Formats: sequence, C-alpha cells, structure tokens
Amino acid sequence: MSITQQQVLDALAKVTSPRGVALTDANVLSAITAKDGKVFLSINVDAAEAGAWESVRAKAEAAVRAIPGVTVAMIALTAERKPGSAAAPPPPRPAQGVPHVSSHRPPQSPTSPMSKQSEIPGIAAVIAVASGKGGVGKSTTALNLALGLRDLGLRVGLLDADIYGPSVPRLTGIREKPQLNDDRKMLPIARFGLAIMSIGFLVEENTAMIWRGPMVMSAITQMLRDVAWGTLDILVVDMPPGTGDAQLTLAQNVPLKGAIIISTPQDLSLIDARRGLAMFKKVNVPVLGIVENMSYFQCPHCGTRSDIFGHGGARQEAERLAVPFLGEIPLHMSIRATSDSGTPVVESEPDGPHAAIYRAIGAKVRDQLRGVIAAA
Ligand code: ADP
Repeated sequence: MSITQQQVLDALAKVTSPRGVALTDANVLSAITAKDGKVFLSINVDAAEAGAWESVRAKAEAAVRAIPGVTVAMIALTAERKPGSAAAPPPPRPAQGVPHVSSHRPPQSPTSPMSKQSEIPGIAAVIAVASGKGGVGKSTTALNLALGLRDLGLRVGLLDADIYGPSVPRLTGIREKPQLNDDRKMLPIARFGLAIMSIGFLVEENTAMIWRGPMVMSAITQMLRDVAWGTLDILVVDMPPGTGDAQLTLAQNVPLKGAIIISTPQDLSLIDARRGLAMFKKVNVPVLGIVENMSYFQCPHCGTRSDIFGHGGARQEAERLAVPFLGEIPLHMSIRATSDSGTPVVESEPDGPHAAIYRAIGAKVRDQLRGVIAAA
C-alpha cells in the first residue's frame, strides 16, 4: 500500500509543537519521503530548543507509524546552531592506553556529547567495526568476527549500520524482510546462529538512498533500539566507512564498549586508520585494537605467502599508538569467494586456517570485554 504525503501530514497535524501550534504549522518540517511503506523526514529546529522537541519528535514518529501500511517511520531532529550561539563543550579527555574495558563509564555531564547515550536492554556490549575508508574488508571482517565470537560460545548480533552501502544482505545471502512483533519492533533475521539486522533488508538493492546527516543517526538509532535483539553478549556494529561527522555522531550516540579498526597494509589506509583511532579516542570509546586485513597474499594453489603490500604496517602502527594488535588476515580467494556468495568463511570452512584466525581475533576481543559481559 502506498502512503501519500497528505496521509503523513494529516498524522503530523495531530501532534502539537512546543510553539503551541500543530507540528505542520510550526514551519519546522523537511520534505517528506514516503516510499514502499517507509516514511522519512526531519524536524529542523535551533540547537537551543532541541531538548524541548525530542518528545515531539517521538510523538510524531509514533503518529506516522500508526498510519496503516507504514512499516518504517524515521523522523530525525535536526538541531542547527544559530550563528554566534555558544560553542559545544569540548569532548572529554581521551583515556590513555586501553588495557581493559570497564563496565562503568565515567559519569557524563548533561551537556556531554555522550549524554544522549543509554544502554540497550539485553545487550551486554555494543562494539563498532570501523575503517577509515571503504573497500578494506570491514564488512567481511565484521561478519566473520561475529561468527568467531559465536564459536566461542557467546550470543552475538550483527548490525549493518553501513547505510550508504549495506553489504550484509550479500555477505549472508539473506533476502527476507524482518517481521514486526506485537510491540511493533522489528525481529532481527536469525542466520548462522547470529541475530542480524541491516538497512539493506528494508530497502531494495540499488535504491539510491540519500541520507542527510541527522537522518543517518536516526536510521541507525532505530535499527539499534527498535529491533527486538533479545539477550546478547555482544552486538557487532558494522559502521559506515570513514571518520567524518556521521561516524563521530554515531560514536557519540551509541553506547559503544569498544571499537575495532580494520586497515590494509597500504600506507594510505593506515593514515585513515589513524584518523579512526583519533575519532574514537575523542569520544572516549576504547579502541579494542587494529586488524590488518589483506595483510599478505596467500596463493590458493600452493599456500605460499607473499607480502605484496609490505605487510606488518598495522602491527607497528598499533605498537606506536599503544593499542592492541588483534591479528592479520591474508588476502585469500576463499575469503573473497565465500564472502561474496553469502557463505562466510568461518561458517563454510569452520576447520580451515581462516576461521581459526577470526576466532583468535574474537578471543582477543572477548578477553577485553570479559568484565562487561560478566557484569551483565
Ligand atoms: P568494506 O566493508 O570495507 O567496503 P568488504 O567487506 O565489502 O569491504 O570487502 C570488499 C571486497 O574485498 C569484497 O569483495 C570482499 O569479498 C573482499 N575481501 C575482504 N577481505 C578479504 C580478504 N581477506 N581476502 C580476500 N578478499 C577479501
């Protein structure tokens, strides 16, 4: 059933704004996108007023979601700072070194960039898998790492938050759409013993989605919070590539217990990885370590190893920056082939050398999160 703009406006007209008039008369709404039961829009207000508008945003979202035929409603609050208004407070000082992740975060002041965070009930640890740029194998690593953690006996979920190019549908072969439960929360797709969610399950492949900054946040927040994840030890979040504003906001808004940076040995991507490290430190998210992907070439026929990219850069970089080095994954045909056919290597070749590498990386991650998981 297709949803019309008028239906959305009618629903929004029933919500009163803090200005005392209907939301539709408050001159704050962006254009409305309504397609295949999915509705996206934003409410644009001055940063100083944002606090008063959050409950309105939530009511507006509930009103749109109640329209028959709406499967997804995302309404973002865009807080634009007026020129000359007070600057944001500085981010908290980064922690020095990351020997162990505590289950307690330092208290956040109400004005802290992290004050929007709240834990997700049932999930002990949300961790991010990030990279400075695309194409370094971040998604492949995130999925195989999630499977490696599963093999260690943990309850694991995977959230594909790479909304610009969700690859988890391709990597897992999942084609079905998530169902809603009685609370109208989306049920993650169960595959390979993981609870999996991706924006790619909701939009058609090749649908160009144009995301403005605040919508990115809103979409990801919904996929975190409006999904019935159940009880998980670890939720692995496959982040959008890059270390720009969208990623920074995400790291500020999601209660991350740690981040893993994926890099290839080439210098350029190491520079990007350094940016990733700086970004997570800025928002006080512990960096669990760096993984060097496509570290060396392993011949699929004879198994001979060639260090074609001058391997080892990520390990040295990790040492220099005093963050753990989690491991190196070879560039290997079977990793590419299994990944692209929806049968990740840890699942399809569980006794092979690659699965062992992902499990070893998983063990290093689990060891750092032990306190958090035990506390939950
Ligand atoms: P990203 O998420 O960083 O954009 P992907 O995980 O989608 O990257 O990987 C990009 C391509 O590289 C895919 O075709 C994937 O199969 C391949 N790939 C990733 N890691 C490896 C590896 N270690 N060996 C061989 N191919 C790999």
